[in-house]
Amino acid sequence: MNATPRRRWNLLNTLFLTGTLAAAAIAVPLHLAFNGFRLAEWITCLVMVFAIGTAISAGYHRLFSHRAFKASWPVRFLLLAFGSASFENSALKWASDHRVHHHHVDDEAKDPYAIGKGFWYAHWTWVMEEKALPLSGVADLEQDPLIRWQHRHHFLIGAVVASIPLWIGLALGDFWGFAIIAVLLRIVLTHHTTFLINSAAHVFGTRPYSEASSARDNWVLAPLTYGEGYHNFHHTWQWDYRNGHRWYHWDSTKWILNGLRWTGLVHGFRRVPAAAIERARLEMEALKLDQRLDRHEPALAHPLKERLAHARLQLDLAMAALHECRVGLKAKRAAWRAEWKAKGLARQARKEERAEAWRQARAEWQAVLAHHREQLKEAWIEWKAARSAARSALVYA
Ligand SMILES: [Zn+2]
Ligand SMILES: [Zn+2]
Repeated sequence: MNATPRRRWNLLNTLFLTGTLAAAAIAVPLHLAFNGFRLAEWITCLVMVFAIGTAISAGYHRLFSHRAFKASWPVRFLLLAFGSASFENSALKWASDHRVHHHHVDDEAKDPYAIGKGFWYAHWTWVMEEKALPLSGVADLEQDPLIRWQHRHHFLIGAVVASIPLWIGLALGDFWGFAIIAVLLRIVLTHHTTFLINSAAHVFGTRPYSEASSARDNWVLAPLTYGEGYHNFHHTWQWDYRNGHRWYHWDSTKWILNGLRWTGLVHGFRRVPAAAIERARLEMEALKLDQRLDRHEPALAHPLKERLAHARLQLDLAMAALHECRVGLKAKRAAWRAEWKAKGLARQARKEERAEAWRQARAEWQAVLAHHREQLKEAWIEWKAARSAARSALVYA
């Protein structure tokens, strides 16, 4: 008979995670009861939560785990220093576990925080378990001396950064207040906001792009997790520097990175083409409607399914035609450039020839493009009409 292996606890992690939570649960209400609400403590706490959480999201997650963009050393240094203060291990170990999570998502034997083992397991019990999870798949990160330095000293670096509020507290004559609110409570808030991505973002929300994993988009989680709440999008295109891809999706990490881009300190942003996102969303929408229609009488479902399939085909064709048109123009431009270069014309003559070629081509190309755009617009209108017809039929069926 196979006995279930006994769970072994990692004492340090267990005491740290439960101890900080218990201490905060006792100390924060007592401090508020005896000393009242002091704004400076709470502002410092929130600034630290935001800075450290953003270092995890932009640094540990998007930069190091997924290589979604490139960053110069001062940015990498700051992300590593503030990331250390999350007390979630080194960037190297974090990225190793996280890459395994993506690679084996939902596989209870291999995913380090598989949601199938329970909400609380994925949230934090996995950290408390003693288990052999050696570094794997992070040879690229090991090339970076800053990452190697942080891996060796992450606890010390974290302690230095985490104690910044203590100096502010000392200067303001409020050491213990800052220690309770801006250090102790801050550590607990940092832990649990990160952990929500492994637990809640794999349980609550929608799957608009793929049902290949349990990862879900959840707009409520997004502001609490520095933009990481769009987890279905993230698991579908993990190398994209954004998690919320639309401008109105709350993704503070994306906004900060976009701002930093102007300084030249970060570059090489990777993003999935909008058309690919749209295609995936459409495919999921069609699949879900089909599944719902399958549960009804063929007499009702069949004509609706036919209409949906036809509308979808038209949309796919229109999208492909527009894409082809853009690719064609790109190739044409490259061919022209090569031709002018081969002719070896004088600079002025080359300039004139290019201007004339563009004048002729632009009008022709714009007409073709406008035609394809119009077709796409019509295909969308028909898709939306077919979708509403199917939805209202399902409501009244
Ligand atoms: Zn995940
Ligand atoms: Zn990820």
